[in-house]
Amino acid sequence: MAQTELVVLGTGFAAFNFVKNLSDDYRITVVSPRNHFLFTPLLPSTTVGTIEFRSIIEPIRHGRKDVRFFHAGAVSLDGERRTVHCQGIGSGRTFPVPYDHLVIAVGAVSNTFNVPGVAEHAFFLKELHDARELRKRIIHCFELANLPTTTVAERERLLHFVICGGGPTGVEFAAELNDFMVEDLVRWYTELVAEARITVVEAGREILSGFDQRLRRYATDQFRRKKISVLTDSPVVAVSETTLTLGDGSEVGFGLLLWSTGNAPTRFVKELALPKDDRDRLIIDDHFRVQQSNSIYAMGDCCVLEGSPLPATSQVAQQQGKYLADSFNRMARGRKVEPFQYRHLGMLAYIGGNKALADLETYKWSGWSTWLFWRSAYLSRIVSLKNKVSVMFDWIKAKLFGRDISQF
Ligand SMILES: Cc1cc2nc3c(=O)[nH]c(=O)nc-3n(C[C@H](O)[C@H](O)[C@H](O)COP(=O)(O)OP(=O)(O)OC[C@H]3O[C@@H](n4cnc5c(N)ncnc54)[C@H](O)[C@@H]3O)c2cc1C
Repeated sequence: MAQTELVVLGTGFAAFNFVKNLSDDYRITVVSPRNHFLFTPLLPSTTVGTIEFRSIIEPIRHGRKDVRFFHAGAVSLDGERRTVHCQGIGSGRTFPVPYDHLVIAVGAVSNTFNVPGVAEHAFFLKELHDARELRKRIIHCFELANLPTTTVAERERLLHFVICGGGPTGVEFAAELNDFMVEDLVRWYTELVAEARITVVEAGREILSGFDQRLRRYATDQFRRKKISVLTDSPVVAVSETTLTLGDGSEVGFGLLLWSTGNAPTRFVKELALPKDDRDRLIIDDHFRVQQSNSIYAMGDCCVLEGSPLPATSQVAQQQGKYLADSFNRMARGRKVEPFQYRHLGMLAYIGGNKALADLETYKWSGWSTWLFWRSAYLSRIVSLKNKVSVMFDWIKAKLFGRDISQF
């Protein structure tokens, strides 16, 4: 009997866990512009070299050998003919991929909220190449500031690192950058580090708004003791190459601006003629079927569970990927499929200086022992033994020899 054609879009948390746990009842084709899985919770650590880039990625082909993979992005969908049209990375040519079942797990992109200048002048932190650009820019700012031709005013601006968005990603980047400065850069750029500043700009009333109030206050307190200023109630309304403008009209110069204010739909999802919510996320039921379709499924950041929206996190995407694989395995054997039930395991965030926050169901922890817990929790979740060992070596290497400051 011919195998069912199952096409999966994406190689992120949801898709990777789905494909890894599927039985061999299906012929699986994966399409993604990224030929590897990326462990995003440790991405902020790669922006300063605490962890090396290749330590947190896993080629999709390593995840499963019998998968057909196309390095391409889905560009449009013909639901009637059950065909997704894809565009090859590097070739630019499009080709059709027919399916019996389609699973959309294409994640999301950074939301600029259409603030003028953000797309052109800000940095983002979603993919590995973003982390590489940030790492280059940090050192570049220090090298530019160090030139004898740089004026005092220029130096002050270049050494101002601004993060727009006080969610976990923005906070962890600020924390990693501060560690990099006080533990490593200070040895080579002593006077410049004394002048450098980090500012977290947040439109809301507090940073880390999803965390318990005591933990939020602890993080803000820890930041204020370091070189990190926190500006709350401060929406950014415009960005130029060197300056951002706040809602009250004041201007803030920067050498680097990281924009980390949440998710927006990918172009592919935006253009899909399928039912979506007001934030352009695909609406799915508790079996992950996209509304008005019996062959299209979606999971992860690109969709929303009707009636009980879940946060856009890796733990949600991971649990969804495992659940859908189990559902498909059951369907292939004619067994009953139960609806999805999410199990919240809590939230973690690194806040710098070997301190972290853990907002768990019953415990709210912070400090050094929580940092050890944070490290061991993420180490245990890294998908391959090779990467677990690499990350451990990276941590030891950074501790013993410091982070690398070369720019290339
Ligand atoms: C810096 C950072 C730190 C984070 N830290 C945490 C954390 O500590 N804890 C936590 O729970 N969550 C964290 N998250 C959130 C978490 O990464 C996401 O919620 C999770 O990755 C969502 O999984 P996903 O599979 O939906 O999407 P993703 O993992 O983003 O994967 C999307 C995939 O789709 C592919 N794709 C995109 N467009 C197309 C297309 N047109 N066709 C085909 N494929 C396409 C992409 O290349 C990618 O492979 C973090 C996110 C970031 C950016």
